[in-house]
Amino acid sequence: MAICADALFGELVGQRRARAILERALETGPSHAYLFSGPPGVGKTEAALAFAAALCCNEGGCGVCPVCRRVREGIHPDVDLVSPEGTFITVAQIREINHDTSLRPFESRSRVTIITEAEAMNTEAANAFLKTLEEPPPHAYFLLVTSALERLLPTIVSRCQRVAFQQAPAPELEAYLRGCCAVTDLEAKSFARASEGSPAYARRLAESAPAREHRAQLINWARRVPEASFYDLGVAADEILASLEHLGEERAAELEAARERQRDWAGDARTRNRIEKLYDQRIKRERRRAQADGLAEVLRVFAGWYRDLATVAVGAEQAALNQDYLYELRDGAFVGMVPGYLGAVDAVKRAQERFRYNVDAKCTLEDMLLAIKEALLP
Ligand SMILES: [Zn+2]
Repeated sequence: MAICADALFGELVGQRRARAILERALETGPSHAYLFSGPPGVGKTEAALAFAAALCCNEGGCGVCPVCRRVREGIHPDVDLVSPEGTFITVAQIREINHDTSLRPFESRSRVTIITEAEAMNTEAANAFLKTLEEPPPHAYFLLVTSALERLLPTIVSRCQRVAFQQAPAPELEAYLRGCCAVTDLEAKSFARASEGSPAYARRLAESAPAREHRAQLINWARRVPEASFYDLGVAADEILASLEHLGEERAAELEAARERQRDWAGDARTRNRIEKLYDQRIKRERRRAQADGLAEVLRVFAGWYRDLATVAVGAEQAALNQDYLYELRDGAFVGMVPGYLGAVDAVKRAQERFRYNVDAKCTLEDMLLAIKEALLP
């Protein structure tokens, strides 16, 4: 067995403890169920895919063979990625998991089910899942991923090994960006802070001009809210929602193109059908995830901007998240407005909370922009 932890987990930034747990599990023999918990965007699903690759790989996790590669791309027939259909993970989805995992693996030594947003299992689904979790077939592994641990049933939590993730510390993110991307010191510092602990987002900012433009546009909207009319706020909400829709479509188109290129991978008809099904699921999931990540970014940029105004107004600008906007922040920050800035941050947090339930997005965004405007009235 040749486990190559660096090839598997090299992209996990600032997660020393989680990585140590996973590496030890591969060396000493893994349990059947793990729970990857921690803030959104820090690389939990990527870590679950890397761990799943090691469970399927003939070398025990080389990180580079076709099995490892296909698992990490989410298109290996023995690795299922399950996410909510609508608001919940339903009992029908769980029954399908229970049935599928009872069957032998297609081509590797394991069958791995990764359940993302595991907190979306309703009680009925969780109870249906418990039995399988209690007596899993020898070849079956379950990796649950959640950003809302407190919403999972305790009976589920207690049957899994916990792998806790944290926000990646800014200095580690900075070092990571300097190592992998062509960035200036100011860019590394700014993108590391602006990502608030998410290596994937920090790297996107470092590598993609459209991603940087999008962030600039969001900051621009955040700056303009105080003088915007009601009509302008409605337009801003529409434009933000359209940009999220676009992110989802873009991601789906990328995956459709990848599917065309990789059609020849599958062997017999059964495996081919399976891979087609996995691709369909993956496209649906990633479209949804691109939109969710996009929305999280909108809220993060807005909250970050008003928090920065408060931070700079009280003279603590070295703590600001948007280090590349210090000039604009100094220009716009007034100490008498600090309660207003904090009120605006609260308005974003309230919207964030509402978005966790399947609310009307346009309505919630408009309400948020309006509440920010009111908080910032002089
Ligand atoms: Zn491998």
